[in-house]
Amino acid sequence: MLSTMQDDQLSLAHLLRHGTRMHADSVAATWTGSEARGATFAETGRRAAKLANALRGLGITGDERVGTFMWNNNEHLEAYLAIPAMGAVLHTLNIRLFPEQLVYVTNHAEDKVVLVDGTLVPLFAKQLPQMTTVEHVVVANGDPASVDAPDGVRVHSYEELLAAQPDTFDWPEIDERSAAAMCYTSGTTGDPKGVVYSHRSIWLHSMQICMSDTMRLSDADKALVIVPMFHAMSWGMPYAAFMVGASMVLPDRFLQPEPIAAVLAAEKPTFAGAVPTIWQGLLQHLDANPQDISHLREVVVGGSAAPPAMMHAFEERYGVPVLHAWGMTETSPMGSVARPPSWASGETAWRYRYSQGRFPASVKARLIADDGSEVPWDGESVGELEVAGPWIAGSYYGDADPDKFHDGWLRTGDVGRITPDGYLTLTDRAKDVIKSGGEWISSVDLENEVMAHPAVAEAAVIGVPDEKWDERPLVAVVVREGERVDAGALREFLRGRVAKWQLPEHWTFVDEVPKTSVGKFDKKRLRAAHADGALDIDHF
Ligand code: ADP
Repeated sequence: MLSTMQDDQLSLAHLLRHGTRMHADSVAATWTGSEARGATFAETGRRAAKLANALRGLGITGDERVGTFMWNNNEHLEAYLAIPAMGAVLHTLNIRLFPEQLVYVTNHAEDKVVLVDGTLVPLFAKQLPQMTTVEHVVVANGDPASVDAPDGVRVHSYEELLAAQPDTFDWPEIDERSAAAMCYTSGTTGDPKGVVYSHRSIWLHSMQICMSDTMRLSDADKALVIVPMFHAMSWGMPYAAFMVGASMVLPDRFLQPEPIAAVLAAEKPTFAGAVPTIWQGLLQHLDANPQDISHLREVVVGGSAAPPAMMHAFEERYGVPVLHAWGMTETSPMGSVARPPSWASGETAWRYRYSQGRFPASVKARLIADDGSEVPWDGESVGELEVAGPWIAGSYYGDADPDKFHDGWLRTGDVGRITPDGYLTLTDRAKDVIKSGGEWISSVDLENEVMAHPAVAEAAVIGVPDEKWDERPLVAVVVREGERVDAGALREFLRGRVAKWQLPEHWTFVDEVPKTSVGKFDKKRLRAAHADGALDIDHF
C-alpha cells in the first residue's frame, strides 16, 4: 500500500524562495578587514536571480558544472544559492589544492564557468591554460583585466554581468535526487575524489543542523562561518541558515587570530564553526589580548579531534561552550555531534563532550573489526567506523571505489569505539594509529595529553619505525609564545596520564606543525620530514 502523501521535491530552489521571503530581513555580511558589508536575505535572493540569469546567458542551461574559487563572502553565498536552484551543479574548488590537483578536479568535473575572487586570480589564472573545459571566468571583487586568458576563454566582471540582469528568475522544478553541488576530498592518497550532494541530501542535512541534538541554529543566531565554503560545504551552515533565517558573518580572507578577534568584537556573533587549529590560534591570541567573547552561545569544532584542554579553556576562561562534532566531506559533513544527554552534568557531561558525539537519527553507524565482523557498542571494543544514511555518499563521481563503499556503507577510515548509548570516540585514523609491539597507541590520545600542558600550543604525534617495537611515537611540539619547556619535563608531565609503555621517547620541537589544505595537522609531511632527517630529535 502506498501512502496518500504528496511526493513534493526537496529542492534548493524552494529553500532559496523560502529564505528570501520568510527571512527577508536576516543578513549575510562579509568582513572587509575593517567592517562588514552586508545584504539582507531578500537582497541576496534578488542577486542570486541576477546571477542565474547571467549564467544562463553564458550557456548554463542544464546540469553543467559551475566552479567557485572564492573565500567565504556574499558573492560565494549567491553562487551557493543560484547555481543549484537553477538546476546546474555548484563545484566548490579548494583554493589550497596543489596546482596539479586543482587542474585535475576542474577537468574531472568538467567545469564550464568558474567564479573567482579578485584576490585569488593570481593563484587561479596560472592554471587556466590546462583547464580544458572552462569557457568563462567571472571575476568577483576584482578586475577582470587581471586575468590573462588563453584563447577560447572569456573573462567577465561579476558586478557588470549582474547589473545587466533582471532580479527575478523562473526557478525550475528539480528532481530532489539530482546533483546540486560537488566537493572533492583533499585526497590523502591518489587523486582527489568527487562527492556529489543532491538537493535532497542538502535539504535533510540542513534540517539536522538546526535540530536540538546538533547545532540548534535558529533565527536568533548570527553565525560566524569560518570553515571554508570550499571545504565540505562550510559544514552545511549557509543552507541551514537560509532555512531558518540565521544571519551570517563571512570572514572572507581574514582568517588569522587577530582579524577573527576583530570580527568577534565588531559583529558579536552568537555561533561559529571552525577546525581546532583556528580555535587554538584564537585562544593564544585572546590569552595575550583579552576580549569579551561571551556573545558566542556556543562554537562548534570538528574536522579533527578537539583537545579537551582547549574546550575547558574556552568555557572556563571565556564562558563559551565548545561543541565537538565529527564528519567528513563524504558525510555532507555532519556525522555525529557531542551534545551530552540532558540528564548528564559535571564530569559525566564532560566525558560525553570530549567524545566525537552521538549519531542523529538519519545516520546509521557500525564498527567493523579486521576480520569483517561487527564490533559491539560496549564503549571499549575498537573497530573501523562505517556509516550510512540519506546524506552519506554511496560512491565517488565516476568512481565506485569498492574499497571505500560496500553493501551500502561508507568505510570512514576512522577507528574508534561506541558506547551503548551511541557516543563515538575516535582513537585514530586507521593510517595514523601507532603499532607498537602488537599493541595500538592512539596518536590522538597522546596529542591531547601533551596539549594539556600549559606551555604547549600544539602537539602532533606520528609513528616512527623502531627495530624492537615496529613503531614508536614521535611527538612534535610547538611551545606557546613566551613559555619554555623541554622534552624531559613533558615526559614527566605525561607520567601517570598515559600507560607507561606508551610514554614517548622521541620528541622534536618545531615552530609550526605542517597543516593540510584545510588546516589539519599534516602527518604525511611530518613523516616525510622525519624520513628526510629534517627534524632535530631528543631521544630518551
Ligand atoms: P580530509 O581531512 O581527509 O581531507 P575531510 O575534511 O573530509 O577530509 O576529513 C574527514 C576526516 O577528518 C575524518 O575521516 C576524520 O578522520 C577527521 N575528523 C573529522 N572530525 C573529527 C573529529 N571531531 N575528531 C577526530 N577526527 C575528525
